[in-house]
Amino acid sequence: MYEPYLTLLKEHHLKATPQRLQILQYLHTHHTHPDADEIYTDLKRTNPSLSRTTVYNALETLKKEHILHAITISGNETRYDATPTPHHHFLCTHCMKITDIELLCPNIKHVEGDGYCINEVHGYFKGFCPTCAKKNGAKG
Ligand SMILES: [Zn+2]
Ligand SMILES: [Zn+2]
Repeated sequence: MYEPYLTLLKEHHLKATPQRLQILQYLHTHHTHPDADEIYTDLKRTNPSLSRTTVYNALETLKKEHILHAITISGNETRYDATPTPHHHFLCTHCMKITDIELLCPNIKHVEGDGYCINEVHGYFKGFCPTCAKKNGAKG
């Protein structure tokens, strides 16, 4: 079941440590954009010997290789995302939920045409999610 992640790590010339594989699998099955602590706490449940430092280091390595994306939309915490295609994010400032916005940035082609090589695209939208908007009478 780690097959696609083994290939992914190999492509980036990274050693397939159990922690890296677990983190990749976790992020591919949890599209909630968790922070490092959330990932650590959840993984520790099934791996009692897991250390926080290992998780943080693995996240750092995967981030450097652009296998994971760090999202800093809320300004004070880093949340992680393993979706490989560029997409934007919406932060609900009420329940702090982050959702993916599938939207291609029209500026990408223009910038790439100028010879830039883009690794990441971040578009941050903030406001009320549908659930919170309903509860709050659709006023921001
Ligand atoms: Zn909300
Ligand atoms: Zn995302």
